[in-house]
Amino acid sequence: MISLKRNNKGDFVQASGLRTRKNTIYQANQAEIFRISRSKFNDFLNCPKCFYLDRVKGLKAPDMPGWTLNSTVDELLKKEFDKSRAEQKPHRILQRYGLEHIIPYQHPELDIWRDSFKGIECQIFDTNLYLFGGIDDIWLNTVTNELIVLDYKSQADKYPVTTERYLNGIYHQGYKIQLEIYAYILKKMGFAVSNIGYFYVCNASKSMDGFHGSLLFEETLVPYKIQLDWIEGKLEEMLQTLNSENIPKSHFACQNCAFNQEQMRIEQEYQ
Ligand code: SF4
Repeated sequence: MISLKRNNKGDFVQASGLRTRKNTIYQANQAEIFRISRSKFNDFLNCPKCFYLDRVKGLKAPDMPGWTLNSTVDELLKKEFDKSRAEQKPHRILQRYGLEHIIPYQHPELDIWRDSFKGIECQIFDTNLYLFGGIDDIWLNTVTNELIVLDYKSQADKYPVTTERYLNGIYHQGYKIQLEIYAYILKKMGFAVSNIGYFYVCNASKSMDGFHGSLLFEETLVPYKIQLDWIEGKLEEMLQTLNSENIPKSHFACQNCAFNQEQMRIEQEYQ
């Protein structure tokens, strides 16, 4: 994807490839608190080199356009769930699935937890690093008193959503990690957390005879059995990477690195 840097007026400006906010750049064994977001931890899981170049060397990833249609669905669902929360009643999707014992969780800090820059957070072992992430919502199992992690997902897949197909989707593997990290952080915060999380999947239907100014979504609740036993080993590896002086290897399957390498090779041929 081509990403050109512009200022507030829309004019092109020089792209430096580096970030300027120093508190987002980690110094090996630094004493100050350093926060790692769920998505940066996920970057580490995908490619430790990219994570290292970003968090330690301060490289700036190209800007990406916002997913405004998806975030609109999220916002509207949040409004619905906030109404159910105020009434302390199960939302209509929970009633449809026979899950009337599950209600939206009430907590004075919920709005902070839903803020992607603040979120829920926990200390990583006994270090000065913190893992954090902004959640879509949290539900409460009123029978077991456990919190339930979930995430709203919108898509436009031509196939109907089934639990098996959704959880096996190549591009959905990161979603499972997302729920697991939320569950891990909440447990570290001292909450009892259910080992079943949910994806609230909104699939835009293509079976209509036209657009007519609206999209119709089919809604499916996809349960997912959460596993947390892998997380601390990977957090340990991430800490070692952050404090290392060696740049990790590129991921052999990365098309961005392959593109850059080919670009450099061709440019050298022409020098
Ligand atoms: S392999 Fe890909 S993800 Fe890793 S450093 Fe290169 S561009 Fe980044």
